[in-house]
Amino acid sequence: MKTVDEQHDFIVVGAGSAGCVVASRLCENPSHRVLLLEAGTRDWNPWIHIPVGYFKTMHNPATDWCYMTEPVPGLGGRQLQWPRGKVLGGSSSLNGLLYVRGQAEDYDRWAELGNDGWGYDAILPYFRKSEDQERGEDRFHGTGGPQKVSDLRLRRPIAERFIQAAVESGIPLNNDCNGATQEGVGYFQQSAYKGFRWSTAKGFLRPALKRPNLKLVTKAHVCRINFRDRQAVSIEYRHGDRMHTARASAEIVLCAGAINSPQLLQCSGLGNPVLLESVGVPVVHELPGIGRNLQDHLQIRLVFKTRDRTLNDELNHVLKRTMVGIQYLLTRTGPLTLAASQVAVFTRSSPEVSRPDIQFHMQPLSAGRPGENTHRFSAFTSSVCQLRPWSRGEINIRSKDPLIYPEIQPNYLSDPRDCEVAINGIKVARRISSAPSLRDSITDEFVPGGQYQSDAELLQAAREHSQTIYHPVGTCKMGNDPLSVVDSELKVHGIGGLRVADASIMPEIVSGNTNAPTIMIGEKAADMILSG
Ligand SMILES: Cc1cc2nc3c(=O)[nH]c(=O)nc-3n(C[C@H](O)[C@H](O)[C@H](O)COP(=O)(O)OP(=O)(O)OC[C@H]3O[C@@H](n4cnc5c(N)ncnc54)[C@H](O)[C@@H]3O)c2cc1C
Repeated sequence: MKTVDEQHDFIVVGAGSAGCVVASRLCENPSHRVLLLEAGTRDWNPWIHIPVGYFKTMHNPATDWCYMTEPVPGLGGRQLQWPRGKVLGGSSSLNGLLYVRGQAEDYDRWAELGNDGWGYDAILPYFRKSEDQERGEDRFHGTGGPQKVSDLRLRRPIAERFIQAAVESGIPLNNDCNGATQEGVGYFQQSAYKGFRWSTAKGFLRPALKRPNLKLVTKAHVCRINFRDRQAVSIEYRHGDRMHTARASAEIVLCAGAINSPQLLQCSGLGNPVLLESVGVPVVHELPGIGRNLQDHLQIRLVFKTRDRTLNDELNHVLKRTMVGIQYLLTRTGPLTLAASQVAVFTRSSPEVSRPDIQFHMQPLSAGRPGENTHRFSAFTSSVCQLRPWSRGEINIRSKDPLIYPEIQPNYLSDPRDCEVAINGIKVARRISSAPSLRDSITDEFVPGGQYQSDAELLQAAREHSQTIYHPVGTCKMGNDPLSVVDSELKVHGIGGLRVADASIMPEIVSGNTNAPTIMIGEKAADMILSG
């Protein structure tokens, strides 16, 4: 295997939600030579661009890393599939398209933890900068940015009923969960444009690739970062049967995501010395927080059989399915434009809570598991997740070989406070389903089922019926305590020339879906690098 040397100013590792943003912004200055390396392929698979295509691209090794967790004790030893995009656009190319920013208090809390410049007022301009909001500009939203944000192109009566039922159970209507307040019920917005997915590869990277100072290499697996006197100087990557060394005269920016960024750092000699020595990696610098602080949103799915027609009826019928395809081809509307959910509810699991701590994703369809065929009866899904879980997991390498997948232990439901919210979340779901607008339509609670009644039984239901909603974050957390990995400028503590800019830097998970916040992190990282 030959080694080829190359020289750049900036090297960005990973062309995902954050990496496409960082690379595209850095090369806006024509004097910067930027190299962007992506382990996955080009985004040529047509299912990437059709919104509902995540059913085809998830769990597909051509586009997904196909990670799997360790057995999770809090889930009765179940192992969960953890899809992550391995393609241009990263997880923004196979996610559920939902555009949600979280709560202002999440970012104020990051600042309170010692991260200057990350309070809500400081980060809002980056959300606005990236955005091209279909509804127009206002205090919270921007237009003209690379990230298209639009309203859903599919409405179904059962979703309307769900919204009415939520209102009847005391939850206010809210047309914009990314506006003045998140609390309430309303339709999601999505990262899509005219019926097509709008990944960061499409919005940010594609226009930037016209610039001669940006070089993109796909199918390039970065295996190691090399250091000289605790200064990151180069990276090694595998491309085909060749190993390459690329040197960065300015900085290396790690945007490989919440699983691969800590893995790459550990394989390169940063992390907990006990772990590194156990797998034979020479220690470059002790940073015990790398891989720790893993957080994710765990959703408990309730499925209700209904008298109303749902998408199950359309998708299980050959003729209707054909019509769905024709509708999409002719109008770019209908079920093929389906984001991962239609209706969002942000509310409180109990009156004592000061701000929404649970989120619902309501879908006008149901399936045994996400990605499987829909049930052969009319039903909808009402999933509830805790927004700010206390349980913390870990990601640790099992080998010094960067191609061997790390061990992922999310430790869901290991904190009793999370168990309490899980129980209360199911109760809120049942309260909504028994409100006047829904109760006459619902014929049965199919999952978990009426046999689960006591608190102990509801917790058992959560352990048996929950799934990730694919939001792992926090494994290279920003801060200045002993377990933090990067400072508030995203520079790796104790190391020069190296930043991390992706979902892994979140000190605490945001109260909502994580793609838009990761794009914001990419925007702010690029701005800090360019002005630094
Ligand atoms: C199935 C699914 C559904 C989701 N649904 C939603 C949703 O509806 N709304 C929402 O807001 N969020 C959603 N998310 C979460 C959101 O997409 C992620 O939080 C976000 O994309 C994370 O961005 P990132 O930049 O940190 O990582 P990623 O976007 O995953 O990017 C990391 C990139 O680095 C590359 N890479 C990794 N290691 C290497 C290496 N060694 N060498 C070279 N390249 C490497 C990867 O291939 C990838 O392209 C979903 C995620 C998934 C997987």
